[in-house]
Formats: sequence, C-alpha cells, structure tokens
Amino acid sequence: MKFCCQNMLSDTLNGRIIFYKNKLEVIIKYYPRDRQYNMMYNNTDGYQILFCPFCGKYLGESLSDEWWATLEKEYNITDPIVDDREKVPPEFWTDEWWKKRGL
Ligand SMILES: [Zn+2]
Repeated sequence: MKFCCQNMLSDTLNGRIIFYKNKLEVIIKYYPRDRQYNMMYNNTDGYQILFCPFCGKYLGESLSDEWWATLEKEYNITDPIVDDREKVPPEFWTDEWWKKRGL
C-alpha cells in the first residue's frame, strides 16, 4: 500500500498513529477494505477524514458504498455482514477487491 507521506507510511502500517496534544489521544486508523481513514480520539469511533493531517493530501472517499454495491451486483449478496457472510469471497475482506477493479 502506498501512502501519501512518510508520516502515514511509517505508523499506519502498524494500524494506527498515535500522538498526544493536551493529553488527548488521537488515533488515525486505516481500513484497507473500505480504503477509509478515521480519526479517533479517546476511544470513540471517530470520524472519517478526507485529507492527510500531516501533508494535506486528499485521501479519497471511502469505498464502503461501493463494497456493498459490488457484492450485490456481482454476487447477489445483500447481507454480507450477517446472513450472507459465508458467501463473501475472501478478497472482499481485504483491499484486494477494489485494487482488482481499479477503483
Ligand atoms: Zn500525508
């Protein structure tokens, strides 16, 4: 995975970046499946971020909607989280599905 800058590269590969400011713990989490970045603080789910907080580069929209739509369109799977979970191809649990489709 190519990230926008060295700050993202070095720590996001370990799943998160932690830094402290006024005792607020901030974590940036990358979700490969959805190509989504969330900024979390103090153990909340946090918010999606669209720009790198270090270099300002646009990170892109989450592919979460496309994930659901692609599973329905290509595999007729409408409930990939519960009822149809067993039918979801393994590539859909990683970043492989969107890389293969050039998204
Ligand atoms: Zn960056």
